[in-house]
Amino acid sequence: MNIVMMGPPGAGKGTQAKFLSKEFGIPHISTGDMLREEISAGTPLGKKVEEILKSGKLVEDKLMIDIIRERLSKKDVEKGFILDGFPRTLSQAEALDELLESLHKRVEYSIYVEVPEKVIVERLSARRVCPKCGRIYNMISNPPKHDEICDVCGVKLITRDDDKPETVRERYKIYTEMTEPVINYYRKRNVLFTVDGTLDVEKVKEMLLNIVGGTK
Ligand code: AMP
Repeated sequence: MNIVMMGPPGAGKGTQAKFLSKEFGIPHISTGDMLREEISAGTPLGKKVEEILKSGKLVEDKLMIDIIRERLSKKDVEKGFILDGFPRTLSQAEALDELLESLHKRVEYSIYVEVPEKVIVERLSARRVCPKCGRIYNMISNPPKHDEICDVCGVKLITRDDDKPETVRERYKIYTEMTEPVINYYRKRNVLFTVDGTLDVEKVKEMLLNIVGGTK
């Protein structure tokens, strides 16, 4: 089962992708997480992209396509995969199709988690991340048990640089310009399924299972 999660930053794609990954036993591939890991590890790639991520702008297509090509060549994607954060531009979507064709695969479900900008800015300003385990909290809808402390690791939670309100607005603008054409691309191919991302997490999960459930 090959799934692509679409939607603005903060729509809840990551949460839902993790859920589907567990449910169907297929890897969750988040390009944002992969880049953040490179940055934390201080690799040459990490150093190259650090400032771009901070600003909320997009990393160049060629680099992202190379990263995905390498990731999709791994054995664990044989039964399927869930891409989260890729493709974000039309050229990435076209490159992905080409790549999948060469692997005798295709995108079966492009799931669009739709959320308006105002809700996104509110949500992301309340988002906190554990710097140790990567667990994500929301101070309004999913707070930790103790004030801004990770339930699992006991360390102080942080706000991602790119979750600051000015950067969130910039990311949403880029998303509208660059990623909405990708949504239309999948719509034309009849693989686009839209869910209302303002609903609560459990409801969205249920809707996703209804969309992809039949083919488990
Ligand atoms: P995310 O966690 O998916 O919101 O990604 C965080 C940041 O990583 C984005 O704001 C971009 O700077 C970069 N990034 C992640 N995926 C891509 C992609 N497919 N194309 C370009 N930049 C990306």
